[in-house]
Amino acid sequence: MECKLQMLQTIKSMCQENLVLGTWGNISVREDNCFWITPSGMPYTAIQTQDFVKINLQTEETEGLWKPSSEWRLHAACYQQREDCKAVIHTHSIYATAFAVAHAPIPPVVEDLVQIVGGGVDVADYALPGSPELAENTLKALGAKNAVLLANHGLIGLGRDLTEALNVCRIVEKTAQVVVAAKMLGQLQELSPADIHSMRQFYLTSYGPGLREEVK
Ligand code: 13P
Ligand code: ZN
Repeated sequence: MECKLQMLQTIKSMCQENLVLGTWGNISVREDNCFWITPSGMPYTAIQTQDFVKINLQTEETEGLWKPSSEWRLHAACYQQREDCKAVIHTHSIYATAFAVAHAPIPPVVEDLVQIVGGGVDVADYALPGSPELAENTLKALGAKNAVLLANHGLIGLGRDLTEALNVCRIVEKTAQVVVAAKMLGQLQELSPADIHSMRQFYLTSYGPGLREEVK
């Protein structure tokens, strides 16, 4: 699907699933040496394909009608630091933000989280929204994983495409809810580093629909 149509569809899902409220949060997709990003402060319901803004990763030259998302530096830093990253989604979902407010990492306790994120979700040091420091702190805390919490703010999720970045945000939000519920039932049992590594490799190399050997 054309990238801007997929961006619209993603925004719609984020709203329907309460991952964002009002105009907060933003999304982007890499295209060659540029990326497309949502306009700043525009209600999701009003955004149309012509409203996305294109930014060159080398020159920071910007094309489009509107000011880009105030978090464009954060998105640019993800693409610059992570060659594997083709899409970035920033949400303010409730349980993920609760962990971000408590400066509490989301532990590696469920298999879908460790497969898609690569482990637990750490918290980046606080910096003002939209600031170069926020981009710097976020990338430092992110490392090779696909999600990181922004202290007192929200979450960013990365992916090899928009579908994966959206699933990262969904799974992190779900895990944050599970952890709060599990803590009421007893002590959390974390997955071991060896099992996390093994599930991550499985996810990256062979997880997904595939024909059975017998029908190939
Ligand atoms: P924008 O509307 O500029 O994308 O900002 C929303 C936001 O979430 C800032 O962190
Ligand atoms: Zn934000």
